[in-house]
Amino acid sequence: MAKDVRVRFAPSPTGMLHIGGARTAIYNWAFARSQGGTFILRIEDTDPERSTEENVQIILRAMRWLGLDWDEGPEVGGDTGPYFQMERMQTYEAALEELKAKGAAYPCFCAKEQLEADRAAAEKADGGYAGYVGRCRALDAAEAARRIEAGEPHVWRLRVPERHAPIAFDDAVYGHMEFPADVMDDLILVRTDGSPTYNFACVCDDANMGITHVIRGDDHLSNTPRQILIYEALGYDVPTFAHLPMILGPDGKKLSKRHGATNVEEYRDRGYLADAMVNFLALLGWSLDGETTIIPRSQLAHDFSLARITKKDSIFDEKKLNWMDGVYIRELDAEQWLCEAGPWLAMAKVAGEKAPAGVTVTPTPTQEEAAQAASELRVPGAGVEEMTWQSALADVADRPAWYREICPLVIERMERFDELPAKLEYLFWGPNVRLDEKSQAKVLGKDGAASALAICRDVLADASVPWECEPLQERCRALGEEAGLKPRNLFQPLRVAVSGNMVSPPLFESIVLMDRADVLARIDAVKGML
Ligand code: GLU
Repeated sequence: MAKDVRVRFAPSPTGMLHIGGARTAIYNWAFARSQGGTFILRIEDTDPERSTEENVQIILRAMRWLGLDWDEGPEVGGDTGPYFQMERMQTYEAALEELKAKGAAYPCFCAKEQLEADRAAAEKADGGYAGYVGRCRALDAAEAARRIEAGEPHVWRLRVPERHAPIAFDDAVYGHMEFPADVMDDLILVRTDGSPTYNFACVCDDANMGITHVIRGDDHLSNTPRQILIYEALGYDVPTFAHLPMILGPDGKKLSKRHGATNVEEYRDRGYLADAMVNFLALLGWSLDGETTIIPRSQLAHDFSLARITKKDSIFDEKKLNWMDGVYIRELDAEQWLCEAGPWLAMAKVAGEKAPAGVTVTPTPTQEEAAQAASELRVPGAGVEEMTWQSALADVADRPAWYREICPLVIERMERFDELPAKLEYLFWGPNVRLDEKSQAKVLGKDGAASALAICRDVLADASVPWECEPLQERCRALGEEAGLKPRNLFQPLRVAVSGNMVSPPLFESIVLMDRADVLARIDAVKGML
C-alpha cells in the first residue's frame, strides 16, 4: 500500500515570505490536500545571525493570509515536532553519533586558510576546483580523537563512499536525474560550532518527520544528490523529489525587487484577494489542463497533481494577476465585498475630506504618472493621523448599509481594492470639488455646459422629485430633451461637476448616495467658474 503523503514547507526565517516561497507552500499544501495527506510547516532557523522571531511571525501571518493551513507545525503542534530546527539539535547530534559509529562521518581539522589555499591552487590547475581535497579523510582514528580531546576546532564531514555509482533519482518534475558521485566532495554535516548544515538538518528532519515528497524550488536541485548521500549513510528511505521551475520577471530574468513587489504581504497590502493570489501563483508552473485559468482554492485542493507541474520557467505577469483579482472580486457578495473594501473605503473618506474648500483644478496625470501611481504601495491608514483614521474606520463600521451601496457602482470594473480611494473620494468631498484639468477643458469648456448644469440643478433642487436614481435621471433627461440637449451633453457636465472627472462610477447612483445640499453646492461652484 502506498504510504500516506506527508509534505513540508520549510522556510528559513531570514526574510519575508516571497513569491517563490509562497508558490512552493501552495504546491505542498495543494498536494497534501489532493492526496488526503499531511502538510507540515517547519521553520529552518539554524542561521542565528539571519533568523529572527519577527520573520517567523511574518511568515506565519502570510501563510494564514493565503489560507494555507498546516496540519503540523508551529502553533498547532504534531507528533513529529518540534517544528523549529533550533529545538531539534538533539536529533542532529544523535544522527551524527550514528554516522560516527558507522565510520560514515569523520572530523576535519583543516583551517579556513588551508581550505582557501587548496581552492586557489585547484582553480589554477587543469581540473578546476572540485571541493574538499579529503586531507583529513584518512586521519588515524586515535590521532583524530586526541586532537578533538585537545580542543582543536573541527567540523564533521560525510565520508562519501569511494566508487559510489552515479547518484540517480526520478524527479517528479524533471524526470530521471543522474549526478556522478566522484565529483561530490565530503560535505560538511556539522560546523565547528556544533551547528548542523542545511543539508544535514534537512535530511534528518525530512526522515524523522516521515516526509514522503520533497517539493521545493529548483535552486535546491544541486543539494539533492548530496542529501541522497546522507540518506544512504543513515539508512533512511529517500523521498520523492519534485523540483519547481523558476519564476521570472517579465524581462525573463529571475524575479526580483526590480520587477516590483516580491514579498507576499505587499500584495495583501495592495488590496489583492488571497484567493486570487493563490490561484495566480498556483498557475506559475502548474496547470489543470493547459487552459483553465480560474481555479478556485477548493478545486486546487482537489485536482492538484505533481504530474502537471511544468519544467518551463514561468513569467510573473502582473496584468494577469490584476485581471484575475477582478474576477475574484466580482464573485464577492456585497457583504464580503464590504469586508474586504472596508479599509479602502475609509481611505477614500480620508482622501475626500482633504479636498480644499471650493473648486480646485488638479493637473491630469500623464500615462506614466498614472502607471507610477498605480504601482505605488498604499497601505490603508499609512500616513494618516491616528484619530482621523480611526474615525474613518468607525464610519464604515457604523453605516454599513450606506457603504454597501457603493459596491454595485464599482464592482464590475475594479481589479484591485487599492483603486478605490482615488475612484471614490468624490463621494466624500462635501460641497467641494477637485476638478481634473483635462475633464474641465474637454467637457466644461464646451458650449451648452452651463445650460446643461442649470437644467440638472433645477431637477436636483426640486424637492418634489424623489432623491432616487431613476426619477432624477428621467426628469433631467426629459428637460434636456426639451432644450434640445443630447443625454451625453447633458450628463457629462453634471458628471464633471459632481465627481470632478469625465470618467467616474455611475452618475445618478453616486448622486443619490450624497447630500442634496452638497451636490447643489458643487454644481453652483462649478457653474460659477464657467
Ligand atoms: N530552508 C530552505 C529554504 O528556505 C528549505 C529548502 C528545502 O525545502 O529543502 O530554501
